[in-house]
Amino acid sequence: MKLVGVIGDPISHSLSPRMHRYWLGQTKVVGDYVPLPVKTENLSEVLCALPKMGFYGVNITIPHKISVLMIADEVTERASAIGAANTLTFRPDGSIHADNTDGIGFIENLRNNAPKWKPTETSALILGAGGASRAVISALLDAGTPEITLANRTKEKAEALQAIFGDKVRVQDWENFDVSRHGLIVNTTSLGMTGQPQLEISLEKLQPDTIVNDLVYNPIETPLLASAKQAGCFTIDGLGMLIHQGIPGFERWFGVRPEVTDELRKLLLS
Ligand code: NAP
Repeated sequence: MKLVGVIGDPISHSLSPRMHRYWLGQTKVVGDYVPLPVKTENLSEVLCALPKMGFYGVNITIPHKISVLMIADEVTERASAIGAANTLTFRPDGSIHADNTDGIGFIENLRNNAPKWKPTETSALILGAGGASRAVISALLDAGTPEITLANRTKEKAEALQAIFGDKVRVQDWENFDVSRHGLIVNTTSLGMTGQPQLEISLEKLQPDTIVNDLVYNPIETPLLASAKQAGCFTIDGLGMLIHQGIPGFERWFGVRPEVTDELRKLLLS
């Protein structure tokens, strides 16, 4: 049996076991995907032991996405650029390969939902400058987006990302961004998530040809998406990114590319 898991602390909220087990059933691979609650002080020891226990790899989630980079033997270019990893593969010699698939998940979800979106012709406004923002910026720049406007409550964090990603990224004040001149708006903050404050921005000038993507998927239709829809915009929720970021890991570990189906979406939403 091929064993894979997801490491985090806490981990019980993770939808990944449900998703990967669905794919295991669909692809008829004999394996399992288990949630592994691991404290920071035990992370290194656990990652050393898992390959010896027959694990093929693991996903990594909060709070370990950054610290695993120090433990991995090989880090992909995109994981280095993002500064975090979410997908580890254990090689037969026990060495650890670290990748970050959040950016792929973001772009694939966007491309699938909005096939007419042209990254090279569309400027983007990104709200937030945390881990998810890094993945989104990196993926958009890779896709050829000519200009990214970045706004974050803590401006210094946005400026730090500008320093990393270069002058295609422009920083704007959190209170003072213009939603009218971007083909794509992405909320990468946790605002709008159940239990968090709402994202309070003025959408009066929002243009109907703007695509609005919220990475938050709980609730599936955030207040931002509901308002954007009312303004006539095409909206994309965060669940698709979650699903798409899981595909490269599943394919690498189990040797089969899984499918994104409506049935899977419904299963995760239930
Ligand atoms: P993070 O690194 O902790 O960043 C959180 C971001 O939210 C920061 O920019 C932070 O601003 C901002 N923020 C938090 N509270 C705020 C407030 N009250 N007012 C204004 N800004 C606030 O978290 P992350 O890993 O990037 O995740 C962010 C969100 O994306 C989460 O909701 C997460 O679930 C979602 N996400 C979804 C996917 C997916 O697959 N759909 C993948 C990754 C993440 P400051 O810098 O000022 O604190």
